[in-house]
Amino acid sequence: MDHSALEQIIVCPACKKSLTKAVDLYTCIDESCRSAYPVFNGIPILINPKNDLFEQKDFETKGDIFFKTYSNPLIRFLKDIQPDVTFNNVSEKNYLTISKILQSSGHIRILILGGSVDGVGIKHLKKVLKEGDLLVETDVSYGPNTTVICDAHEIPFASESFDLIIAQAVLEHVLDPFQCVREMHRVLKNSGLIYAETPFMQQVHGGKYDFLRFTDLGHRRMFRNFREVQSGLVAGAGSALTWSLKYFLTSFANSKKVDRILSYGGTFLFFWVKYFDLILNKTKGSIDAASGLYFLGKKEEGYLLSDKELLASYRGFRYSSEK
Ligand SMILES: [Zn+2]
Repeated sequence: MDHSALEQIIVCPACKKSLTKAVDLYTCIDESCRSAYPVFNGIPILINPKNDLFEQKDFETKGDIFFKTYSNPLIRFLKDIQPDVTFNNVSEKNYLTISKILQSSGHIRILILGGSVDGVGIKHLKKVLKEGDLLVETDVSYGPNTTVICDAHEIPFASESFDLIIAQAVLEHVLDPFQCVREMHRVLKNSGLIYAETPFMQQVHGGKYDFLRFTDLGHRRMFRNFREVQSGLVAGAGSALTWSLKYFLTSFANSKKVDRILSYGGTFLFFWVKYFDLILNKTKGSIDAASGLYFLGKKEEGYLLSDKELLASYRGFRYSSEK
């Protein structure tokens, strides 16, 4: 990790002006702002003191805010052995595509939002990183990868700092994903790439930190300031059905204990249904029933997808009343 490269692009999340650093404290240089940001265990806590949701002191201890850790050994064991309910053979291919596009660039700078732990397939992208590249993995939680604590609504980096920004299974967990995408657009270099994976047909999975879902066109519109490179589904209707069957079971719960039993029961009973996605991840009919969707786009100054173009890009088979 090249800390000097990181410090060159860090700015005040509140006002976007520069920060000065003294031992374990960053201070904003702007006279009217003067916000201060502590560094805990070598990790800058770049959370705006006026942030409504997170406080800097939440991060004083390395406890996890987002991912719950379980003390019960039986639950930990079940968590370790339980199969995944999503069949995803797409992310890996997408990261290979992205690494191919970036290969010809010189030193690349990558920002991962919600990057405290590795997302599916991202190891294929990390493998191609070279000496002199910069990888900044941010989150509102501590994980093995966390470089910086920050809120995606107020990204603490200077404009046009990155060649690639990734938000994998993140935008459903933020209060205002449109604001986050505006921030991603700001900190991305011109011609830089944006990659997002966001659920469509998935039940609540982040506890209280779970707010929104997107259809294919809803997802595309959120990135209307980016030219599309490629987009599609991450997991199809097989995964969506696995999720639904599992949550059909948990809907019978009236207590946390019963929910937990039904949740593990549902996973072990129905995980195999996801393998229909071996077929359904390739069919055109899946796009309107997908478990999750992705968008890979490019920043082009002045580009805007019109809403007419958006509607013309519909690729599902559902009819609308006009036709
Ligand atoms: Zn400031």
